Amino acid sequence: MSKRVVILGAGFGGLELSTTLSEALGDEVAVTLIDKNDSFVFGFSKLDVMFGRTTPDAVRLHYREIAKPGVNFVQETVTEIDPEARRVTTDAAVHEADVLVVALGADYDVAAMPGLAEGGNEFYSVAGAERLAEIVPTFSAGRVVIGVADAPYKCPPAPSECALLLHDDLVARSVRDACEITFVLPLGTPVPPSPETSAALLEAFAERGIEFVGGRRVSSLDPERKVALLDDGAELPYDLFLGVPKHRAPDVVIASGLAEDGYVPVDSATLQTSFPEVYAVGDVATAGVPKAGVFAEGAARVVARNLIAEWADGDRPGPYDGRGSCYIEFGAGRVGRVDIDFLSGPSKSGVFNAPSTELVAEKEHFGSSRRARWFGT
Ligand SMILES: Cc1cc2nc3c(=O)[nH]c(=O)nc-3n(C[C@H](O)[C@H](O)[C@H](O)COP(=O)(O)OP(=O)(O)OC[C@H]3O[C@@H](n4cnc5c(N)ncnc54)[C@H](O)[C@@H]3O)c2cc1C
Repeated sequence: MSKRVVILGAGFGGLELSTTLSEALGDEVAVTLIDKNDSFVFGFSKLDVMFGRTTPDAVRLHYREIAKPGVNFVQETVTEIDPEARRVTTDAAVHEADVLVVALGADYDVAAMPGLAEGGNEFYSVAGAERLAEIVPTFSAGRVVIGVADAPYKCPPAPSECALLLHDDLVARSVRDACEITFVLPLGTPVPPSPETSAALLEAFAERGIEFVGGRRVSSLDPERKVALLDDGAELPYDLFLGVPKHRAPDVVIASGLAEDGYVPVDSATLQTSFPEVYAVGDVATAGVPKAGVFAEGAARVVARNLIAEWADGDRPGPYDGRGSCYIEFGAGRVGRVDIDFLSGPSKSGVFNAPSTELVAEKEHFGSSRRARWFGT
């Protein structure tokens, strides 16, 4: 009988894992890929939606396109995970697994920044980005505060990208002189593992008159006074607040007993949890890497290759190397890249590639190659 692999979550991790297993094993494996949504959206598309460069419909990649030997996608919501029995309950069925992979990503705890829901706007969900696509074009004067609730958060450079793209948007509408942009980040520098990348971003902020406040969290908003309160007690008045909510593993993962301190601890070499034949990849796990799609994808590949080696006598892959490249929108039609290595060397490193139009094309290829590989479109 084929091995039954149940993958929870069809994001970067789940899509890469199911694709790699299907490519190697075809119908010899029975993969059930579960997601509550009908479509996938790249994280970076949210910024494109927010700044009117595209529409939500144009960036949705529908799971109904997935036609891979051995893979069955089901649109269901996971309501219970029993890691000991490797049994998953959803709103529609019960799934028994020989191998269970949790790839449910990180959820947003909007309430952890009191006032955000009432007096601010988050830009980390498709719905939030869609709302902002209506609001940003009408903003023509006043103070904008971009603020992050806490670390870790997805895609460490994304709030910096938001600041730079907002600057471009205001310039294009000839209202930049009437606006102030302040950017508050819990990290001391924009991309701590890469001092060169951080220096380039800080220089770009300085050139554009964007004030950077590093090492500070936005703890709450006072919507009546239109003030953001920072963790050191400082107050920042705002007319438009663009926020990144606190992140945490989905409730169903916390309730399963798999999580510790908010996320699922794994062996960073193999992505195994403390339960036999149960793995966790991507943002839901603590694997010693940043929360970003490229790392979810790399981790998923290691899990897949280990399973393929075990079942088809292939070569075992080396340990997960924690390497990945992140593209960074620098504004003015240019994209930079930071090549991160968190696990393979003696220390964490990040090599900076200066912004260019060539990297714009490379980022486009990053998206289109995954779209083709995962969805065949
Ligand atoms: C603005 C922004 C920009 C970004 N830019 C980049 C970038 O340029 N490069 C990059 O690498 N990363 C980027 N990211 C980060 C990236 O999107 C995430 O890190 C990545 O998606 C994580 O992959 P994952 O597989 O762990 O989780 P996800 O891709 O989040 O997938 C998790 C899936 O689980 C599903 N799910 C959750 N709960 C349930 C449930 N109970 N039942 C069923 N299904 C459920 C969700 O619907 C989701 O599809 C960005 C993120 C944001 C917000």
